[in-house]
Amino acid sequence: MARGHPAVLSVAVLDALPSPTVLLDSDGIVLLTNRAWEAAVEMVDDDRIEAGSGIDYFATARRACGNAIGRRIVASLRALSRGERESVAMDYSVKHPIGARWYHLQASRVGEDGQVVVTHTDVTDRVQAEQVSVWRARHDDLTALPNRAALHELIDAELQRPDRPPVTVLLLDVDGFKDVNDSLGHEVGDDLLRQIAGRLVARTRSEDSVGRLGGDEFVVVCRNCDTAGGVALAERFQGIFDEPFDLDGRAARLTASIGVATARGGAPSGARPTELVRDADLAMDAAKRRGRSRLHVFSGDLRDAVQQKVRVAGELREAIEADQLVLHYQPILHLPTGRVHGVEALVRWQHPERGLLPPGDFIALAEVYDLIAPVTRWVLSAATRQATEWADQGLPLRVSVNVSAASLAAGTIADDVAEALAASGLPPERLVVELTETTVAEDPERAAAQFAAMRRSGVEVAIDDFGSGFSSLGQLVNIPAGILKIDRSLVAGAVDRRSESAAAIAAIVALAKAFGMRALAEGVETVEQLALTATLGCTFAQGYYIARPMPAGDLLSWLQDRSVIGVRDDGAARARRL
Ligand code: C2E
Ligand code: CA
Ligand code: CA
Repeated sequence: MARGHPAVLSVAVLDALPSPTVLLDSDGIVLLTNRAWEAAVEMVDDDRIEAGSGIDYFATARRACGNAIGRRIVASLRALSRGERESVAMDYSVKHPIGARWYHLQASRVGEDGQVVVTHTDVTDRVQAEQVSVWRARHDDLTALPNRAALHELIDAELQRPDRPPVTVLLLDVDGFKDVNDSLGHEVGDDLLRQIAGRLVARTRSEDSVGRLGGDEFVVVCRNCDTAGGVALAERFQGIFDEPFDLDGRAARLTASIGVATARGGAPSGARPTELVRDADLAMDAAKRRGRSRLHVFSGDLRDAVQQKVRVAGELREAIEADQLVLHYQPILHLPTGRVHGVEALVRWQHPERGLLPPGDFIALAEVYDLIAPVTRWVLSAATRQATEWADQGLPLRVSVNVSAASLAAGTIADDVAEALAASGLPPERLVVELTETTVAEDPERAAAQFAAMRRSGVEVAIDDFGSGFSSLGQLVNIPAGILKIDRSLVAGAVDRRSESAAAIAAIVALAKAFGMRALAEGVETVEQLALTATLGCTFAQGYYIARPMPAGDLLSWLQDRSVIGVRDDGAARARRL
């Protein structure tokens, strides 16, 4: 093992080192090796690497590591040997038939005649772990596509190019993906996302990149591509949905909505990748609003609309505090007696500049901007106080309040109701809480639990807009509601007894009765509709024919002036003075 002169280092010292180690003379000839070196050389079984003393380490290094790295190792070790540097430390890889291995080489000079001791520590595990974590930080676990961070980097690199070609970003969102997840489970949903990813990759031009933002949103970065080119590509991507997908053994047809946004080429636009993706997202939202399987190209007015919404949401937040909300009340008629049984409280916003705004202008906004809970609390408080005031004036009306899906999801509605009743002193039987059919269908169990809690306290619960959504009739069995409000779209179609809508109303009334509920016809606009809904068995009616929603102050005089509207047994409407 030893050759020539006794080396400064003995074999025993080298053998104590755990890493493969060699002692070289100033020409790179191996003087000594340790046991770990011999074992390592034996194990890699590579004839480019020779064991034992007397061999030329420099030549071996060039053979094993390739010329470039080999030359760097040799040059560094020679410099070390000549005393031009203190030590050498570097990582290098050696290709083996079993895959690359990584080593950390560390060398120092020993003694006076330029001898060098070199240790080689196998760091393959550490390097591979680093490579995996670098990869994972930039890729999506589920589909192995570039993730949001990586996509932003890719787009940024395009935007920074000195020749400034146009870049188009497509944002693709699967229509109805939530339904797949909800009805078939997350595993099927995940599998669907992988199928889509596979098809997208297959359709992507080699110069473009496809990645996943998260959820069911995919992004394609189209390089050197203007809006027209992006639209053409987007149409091609919609083609991947022509073939059905395999959902747990079932073939299912799906569609996607695509938003298109372009950073124009030429002069630097200062556009940022996050902005480009957000523009594509706004365009995708606009596409969704127009239905399924649509394309939409971003334009500045989409961004203006968002800014406008943010501003209005800010104003609404202040409006709640500043008491700019008002309630109008629409009378509800009890058909068998012709008496006014109660009123529905409908919120409006007395906007300082824009006048009286209907709920359609701000309720959806309140839901998105987390303002629905304060709005609901305000409405509950104002409506229960008003009802108490009417009762004090000898008018014991029931008051109905609308509650949004978002309030139900927050799970605070039963508490808010209890608080409003306690503060106003209104008996619980005088309050009705209305929830839309779609709200109930979204999460029937949660709805059932909260309905039950409210009904236990004596508060009545109504299902609103019934017949406009698609909740299964079966779900109704488990929902403890007392009133079913038939959507005005059905009432509008009920022109005579033989119409389809009339048949649907009759079926809903029968269903309501079977579950112990009373039916209310909404949107009654004509005397004929009033008569028909009474004949079909509705207990209550509400609509412009009876009265439009009105300020609280108008209700007393309306009640005094009005005719009691009743229906004769033969179905003909009659009116008589109160
Ligand atoms: P909704 O609960 O179905 O309320 C009935 C809507 O129909 C009211 O519109 C009412 O003015 C209108 N309406 C009543 N009779 C007729 C009729 O004969 N013909 C027609 N065409 N329409 C009639 P409004 O006040 O604009 O309210 C719209 C929706 O806004 C309500 O629909 C309800 O979903 C929501 N909303 C109103 N107030 C509140 C509230 O305080 N909180 C929440 N979360 N939503 C509210
Ligand atoms: Ca309602
Ligand atoms: Ca309704």
